[in-house]
Amino acid sequence: MDFHLSKTHLLQQQLFRTFAETEIRPLAKEMDENEAYDPALLAKLQKYGFLGIPYSREYGGAGADTLTYTLCMEEVSKVDASTGITISVHTSLCCSCINNYGTEEQKQKFLRPLLDGRQVGSFGLTETNAGSDVQGAQTVAVRDGDDWIINGSKIFTTNSGFADVCVVFAITDRTVPAAKGLTAFIVDLKNTPGVTVSENIERMGIRAASNCIVTYDHVRVTPDRVLGPVGRGFKIAMGALDCGRIGIAAQAVGIAQGALNEAIKYGKERKQFGKPINSFQNTQFKMAEMQTKIDAARLMTWRAALAEDNHENFGPLAAMAKLFASDVANEVCRFAVQAMGGYGYCREYPVERMLRDAKITEIYEGTSEVMKMVISGSMKLK
Ligand SMILES: Cc1cc2nc3c(=O)[nH]c(=O)nc-3n(C[C@H](O)[C@H](O)[C@H](O)COP(=O)(O)OP(=O)(O)OC[C@H]3O[C@@H](n4cnc5c(N)ncnc54)[C@H](O)[C@@H]3O)c2cc1C
Repeated sequence: MDFHLSKTHLLQQQLFRTFAETEIRPLAKEMDENEAYDPALLAKLQKYGFLGIPYSREYGGAGADTLTYTLCMEEVSKVDASTGITISVHTSLCCSCINNYGTEEQKQKFLRPLLDGRQVGSFGLTETNAGSDVQGAQTVAVRDGDDWIINGSKIFTTNSGFADVCVVFAITDRTVPAAKGLTAFIVDLKNTPGVTVSENIERMGIRAASNCIVTYDHVRVTPDRVLGPVGRGFKIAMGALDCGRIGIAAQAVGIAQGALNEAIKYGKERKQFGKPINSFQNTQFKMAEMQTKIDAARLMTWRAALAEDNHENFGPLAAMAKLFASDVANEVCRFAVQAMGGYGYCREYPVERMLRDAKITEIYEGTSEVMKMVISGSMKLK
């Protein structure tokens, strides 16, 4: 067992950190206020390979591992969680489905442009009546000759405001439970007749991220757009979410570390009762406690990433990492606002945004309650 990052990982971590500080930090506040992601920043993420990190060079990826991807997610989320989710949904949800289940032809045609920076991907699973319980899905796809016609609506599709493609899940067999009747399709979101993308849904946090309702009205897709076997969609979606939860855990670690760093910086300067507030033992002990929890969350996240890289059963480890790290992120952000007093509560300081951003890590890609279902399900309790 080795808790040290390799020289390559340290170098990559430094590159991600420098990019985050110089390119993302200056825009984070404004993007949150505008509730829109900066297109020029998105273009830079594409240009510098942020959208293909843990995928083979053969298909246009960076050829790095999942651990490197978590380092990226932590560094960008330290300064802007919206950038974190933009990268994460594209990488862990959309691209993993095509990478793991696509044919060679589909990988060349659909995965390559997503990994080499030409296109952005999204993932459409959640519906108004199908959130934690995916089996409530009502979006359907029926055969028309060799083609399929998709009808339905997906809510909360991250990246959909600018994404080129979406991996969409639709019921193709109503006579069996959705776990066996769901099929994955690769749909072009731009210029496809019948596809409508709503305005950005107004939200509490990660407000710069794109998150819309996508409606599919008699959308015709050709057979080459069916991803994996017909009826295997549930398994494909659950596998993608296992990957995704490692990214969200890393996002939560990043938000937490970013918020604690802000509180530390502030507490060195802010004087009350004639002393910097960081000189009070109460503040020091609380900061020590927060850093300990962040480190524990980070190690759990790395453990899950290494398990994925080693092709082990990483699903429960990813769920544990997400459950713990998201809880830590919320606790640390609440602390950071408290430690900065009234100033922490003001928009001028980033911890106000970070506290709003932290909440979503307990909800998306499976709520904390769903994480407990995944973990307890792996524990052979009965
Ligand atoms: C900002 C944002 C981005 C998102 N991005 C995407 C995306 O890109 N693609 C996508 O497909 N989806 C996306 N989602 C959807 C997200 O994954 C769902 O919101 C989440 O899975 C929860 O579903 P729900 O909102 O329908 O809540 P519900 O399932 O209605 O849950 C409500 C509450 O009930 C609890 N609950 C439900 N069932 C049980 C149970 N059996 N036992 C105990 N408690 C239970 C939940 O834990 C939760 O606390 C996104 C959501 C948001 C808000």
